[in-house]
Amino acid sequence: MASFSLSGALRGLFAKKTIDDDTWDDLEAALIGADFGPALADEVVEELREKVARYRTTDPADLQRMLREGIEERLAAFDTTLTLSDRPAVVLVVGVNGVGKTTTIGKFAKFLRGYGRTVVVGAADTFRAAAVDQLATWAERAGAEIVRPQAAGQDPASVAYQTVEYAKAHGTDIVIIDTAGRLHTKGGLMDELGKIRRVVEKQGPIAEVLLVLDATTGQNGLAQAQAFIEHAGVTGLVLTKLDGSAKGGFVLAVQRQTGLPIKLVGQGEGVGDLTGFTPHVFAQQLVG
Ligand code: GDP
Ligand code: GDP
Ligand code: MG
Repeated sequence: MASFSLSGALRGLFAKKTIDDDTWDDLEAALIGADFGPALADEVVEELREKVARYRTTDPADLQRMLREGIEERLAAFDTTLTLSDRPAVVLVVGVNGVGKTTTIGKFAKFLRGYGRTVVVGAADTFRAAAVDQLATWAERAGAEIVRPQAAGQDPASVAYQTVEYAKAHGTDIVIIDTAGRLHTKGGLMDELGKIRRVVEKQGPIAEVLLVLDATTGQNGLAQAQAFIEHAGVTGLVLTKLDGSAKGGFVLAVQRQTGLPIKLVGQGEGVGDLTGFTPHVFAQQLVG
C-alpha cells in the first residue's frame, strides 16, 4: 500500500540536518523519478524555494510539510467525487487493453456492494470470448449480476442496452459496462464506444465514463489513451497498479495534463484493492 511512497527517494533529503544548496537538485530529481514530469517538478521546486526563503526556515521537516501541503492543494483542486445518484446510475469503463478495466469493474462492484448498492455488470467487451468469462468470475466474487452477450461477438452496444434494461426491470442501483480496449482500428473502437453511449442514453443519462490508466506506464500510457480523452466523453480517471509503482507523481501529472479528476485508485489484484481518491491521504502516503 505504501509502495508508491516518495519517501524512499526523499528520506535522505528530509533526514538531513539542514536545507542546503543540494536540497533543490535532490528534490527535483526525486520528483522527476516519481513521474511528476519536468514542468511540474520544476514548478513545485520553485514554489518550495520561495516558501523556504519567505519563512526563513532551514529545517527539512518544514520542507517536507510544505511539499505535502503543496501536493494536497494541487490534488484538491479537482472534484474527485463519483456521481452515482441516478437510478440506475450507469458507469462506462473504457481504456486500452491490459490497463485493468475488467479487474477494476470487479473491485468497484464489490466496493459498491459494501455500501449496500445492487450492481449489474455488462460484458460489452464481446471481442474476446475469454473477456466475458473473466468478467463473470469477478461478478461472482463481488456479488454482482452480469448480463452476457447472447451469442459470441454480439454487438457490444446491444449488450450495453440489455444491461441497462436489466437494471430497470430489476431495480438494480448501479450498471457498470465493460468495454473492449482494442479493435482492428482505433477509429472503429471510438465509433463503437459512441454507439454504446447513444444506445445507453436512449434509456437515460450516463452517470460516469471512467478512463482506466495503468500508473506504471506513465506518459506513454497517457499518450495511448489520448483518443479516449478526445472522443469518449470521459468524466473521471481510474489509476491502477499503483502498488509496486514508484510513480505516484503520475497522479498529479495526469490530472494536470488531462484536466480530469482521479476518482478511483487500484492498488493490487485483490477484490479489496480499490479505494476512492482522497487528496489528504494520498499526499500523506506520497510524501510521508
Ligand atoms: P504549462 O506547464 O506551462 O503548460 O502550464 P501548467 O501545467 O502550469 O497549466 C496548465 C493548465 O493547468 C492551466 O490551465 C492552469 O490553469 C492549470 N493548472 C495549473 N496548475 C494547477 C493546479 O495546481 N491545479 C489545477 N487544478 N489546475 C492547475
Ligand atoms: P483490461 O484488459 O483493461 O480489462 O485489464 P484486466 O482487468 O484484464 O487486467 C490486466 C492485468 O492487470 C491483470 O493481470 C490484472 O490482474 C492486473 N491488474 C489490474 N489492476 C491491477 C492493480 O491495481 N494492481 C496490480 N498489481 N495489477 C492489476
Ligand atoms: Mg478486460
